[in-house]
Amino acid sequence: MRVLVIEDNLETRELVARALARDGQEVTGAADADEALAVIDQVDPEVIVLDLGLPGTSGLALCEALRRRGHETPLLVLTAQGAVSCRVACLDAGADDFLAKPFAIAELRARVRALGRRRALPKVTVYKTAELVVDVTARRATRHDSVVPLTAREWSVIERFVAARGRVVTRGEILEAVWGDDSEAASASLDVIIARIRRKLGEGFVRTARGAGYIVGDG
Ligand code: CA
Repeated sequence: MRVLVIEDNLETRELVARALARDGQEVTGAADADEALAVIDQVDPEVIVLDLGLPGTSGLALCEALRRRGHETPLLVLTAQGAVSCRVACLDAGADDFLAKPFAIAELRARVRALGRRRALPKVTVYKTAELVVDVTARRATRHDSVVPLTAREWSVIERFVAARGRVVTRGEILEAVWGDDSEAASASLDVIIARIRRKLGEGFVRTARGAGYIVGDG
């Protein structure tokens, strides 16, 4: 299972990484929110372990930002304070579980394993026509039986189209979910991504719903 550990303290990060590796987890480390956001689409983690006390953007704000962007990865928060108010804030921010420092390594490993088992799959994950198969869960697309290489960002957009099949997805929804803002720069990147997706998967995959956004085509 792929696990992303976000913790600024190198010693703790390595301790956690080593412990999880003993369970066969593939661990990627990040020292702060910026580093985590930079790697998250490439790593595509199945569980996130997040320290609350990070320099810069706090763990709590990062957790909220990830949920806002549509990342539903199960998330375990590590914190130095175990107060009820802190637990409540974490759960409200979208965390799935909580462990107060100092924690027993065996408990951390068990909680990560449990979160891995709880992973929820998105509802609609496969789009299929005579020409095209797009499997979001497997991150695999084939067109006329040839595999189509797609980037992590392209997948993030495609995932939303496939999940919303039959319903119009607005540009605002995609921008908020994938870029976290609706700036001109983000909007321009969306245009580029849509053009690339159409080139790779065919014009019929995503149709423009006039004035509203996009809708997944019938192939
Ligand atoms: Ca810390």
